[in-house]
Order: sequence, then C-alpha cells, then structure tokens
Amino acid sequence: MFGSVVVGVGTAGFVRIRDMLAPLPSSAAEKLSVKGFISRRTLEEQQGVKQITVEDALRRDDIKVAFVCTENAAHEENIRTFLEAGKHVCVEYPMAMTHKTAVDLWDLAQEKGVVLHEEHIELLTADFKQLKKDIAGKKLKEGSLHFTGGPLKPGFGFPAFSGIARLTWLVDLFGELSVTAASMEEDQENKYMKMTTQLMTKEQKPLTWIEERGPGLPRVKNINFCFDSCTMTQLPPAAREPVGLFMQDLVLFSQKLLGQVPRDQLHAERHRVLHCLELADRIQQLSQQGQGSAQDA
Ligand code: NAD
Repeated sequence: MFGSVVVGVGTAGFVRIRDMLAPLPSSAAEKLSVKGFISRRTLEEQQGVKQITVEDALRRDDIKVAFVCTENAAHEENIRTFLEAGKHVCVEYPMAMTHKTAVDLWDLAQEKGVVLHEEHIELLTADFKQLKKDIAGKKLKEGSLHFTGGPLKPGFGFPAFSGIARLTWLVDLFGELSVTAASMEEDQENKYMKMTTQLMTKEQKPLTWIEERGPGLPRVKNINFCFDSCTMTQLPPAAREPVGLFMQDLVLFSQKLLGQVPRDQLHAERHRVLHCLELADRIQQLSQQGQGSAQDA
C-alpha cells in the first residue's frame, strides 16, 4: 500500500481525499490509502481524515506519496519538499509557474527514483475524447479556442499557466506548436482579463487561443476549427462516463507507482507537459513585453 497525504484542501484536495477513501474497485487506485492532510489553516477532520504537519508527513515511513492540491504559486515549494524526502508526488496542473522549474523538479524526481505526476483531467473528459476521435485524420486549416470563466483567486498565476488545460488540449489535438504573438488586456479593478495568443502548428497552420475571465462570464470553451473537409464550431455531444475525472487520474497515477505504465508513454507525457510549460513561458514573456510578435522579440 502507498500511504498518502493531501496538501491543500480546497476543491481538488477534497476530491482527492474522497476518491482515496472510495477508490475504483479492482483498480490500481486501491493501492493508495490516505493517512492525513496538510493545511495552512487549523481544520477539523475532513471526511474522517486528520490534519497532520508537514514535518510529520516527511518523517513518517508509512507516508510514501503527497498530493499537491494548493493554489499554483505554492506548487513548486511543496513538490520540492516532498521529492527531497523521497516521496512520490502527484500535483494538480500546472506543475510550476516556469518551464525551468518543471525541468528541475522532474530531474529531482529522477534523481530520487520517485514518480512525479501532473494531473490533466481535461484530457480525460468525455467531450475531449470524442473531439479527438472526431478530428482524427482531418487536416486543419485554422482554428480557435476561446475560454471564458469567472475571475481566479490570487495565487493561480499568469493565465497561460492557470489556463494550461486549454493549451494542453491544442497540443494534444494538433501536435507541437510555436508562439507567434501574445497580448494581455487587464482591468484589475474590475477583475477582468483577456489573454490572446497566436500559435502555429508544425504544418504552419494558425491557431488562436484566448483566455478571458471576468465577473459573470460563463465557464465555457468555444471552438472554431476549420478543416479541409468541414468546420467544427461546437464540442461534440458525449455521454458522461461512469468513472469521475479525478478518479481516472488517480488510477493512472497509481499505475505509475506500480510501474505499470510503459516507458514510452511516460516519456511522451513528460515531453507534452514540458512543451506546454515552455509555450506558456513564451506567451507570458511576449504578453508582458507588450510587443506582441515573436518575430520582433
Ligand atoms: P481552491 O481555491 O479550492 O484551493 C486551493 C488552495 O487554497 C488549497 O490549498 C486550499 O487549502 C486553500 N484554500 C481554499 N480555501 C481557503 C480558505 N478559505 N482559507 C485558506 N486557504 C484556503 O482551488 P482548487 O480548485 O482546489 O485548485 C487547486 C489546484 O488544483 C490548482 O493547482 C488548480 O489548478 C488545480 N486543479 C483544480 C481543478 C478543479 O476542478 N478544482 C481541476 C484541475 C486542476
């Protein structure tokens, strides 16, 4: 069994505890057992699980795994602390706020001989799986993905990182990308922001990615993908799957702990995660320089 601790009990942390208490029957997730949670607040038991200190979690031999479910700005420090102690880590996306940090953390995990896993539940949704099937074999001419949602709480970082799930969709659908331009509009007083990014596929087909957040904006992904054969303007309807998204991710992480995931899959995943973080870095750099175009930079 892999005794585990959950760090940060917001929405994601709550679900991690819930899923470990009732893992998918006959799945690798049954090998995880939650031993405690860590919070900066002093809290009562959560779902029957006790609060413990970081020092306890690091010292205890029966705790082999940490789930990092804090706001994004605290991921790096938490991951590093647990990896240094030789614990496996599952972190909610994004792993870190820079590409370089993620490379360092992955190197550290390798050095310590432990698993470092970044959750990507957006790749496990029924609508994404259907979308991927529907566009297989089609040739992209151009496309856009426009995400809207409510304002984020502090600590979630620049939108290219907090919104890495959307970027990951584009990379998973269309392959490696490059950034040709990026800009950011922000009205802090009204908690409004809009990041607009121009990307290019390896086949030199343009993609636009927009992250827009503000009070009252619905949480929606609008797509417009033009292919040689058709145009898609809506996500395909897909039946809800019986196994929840975080549970699917828990099974994958557990399979990694048990050495059941093929090396080439692990390699491809690491490559995708780092590629997305590298793009996010570039987008942040261009947006903050305010010069917009990669050619000018
Ligand atoms: P959250 O705001 O619910 O919780 C984030 C952190 O804030 C936790 O450490 C929590 O303990 C702390 N927190 C929450 N309320 C607090 C309070 N009142 N006082 C002090 N601290 C408080 O955020 P979340 O949605 O759980 O996101 C956590 C991580 O999971 C992020 O990295 C996010 O990107 C990732 N993630 C979340 C989801 C999701 O569906 N919620 C999906 C994918 C990835």
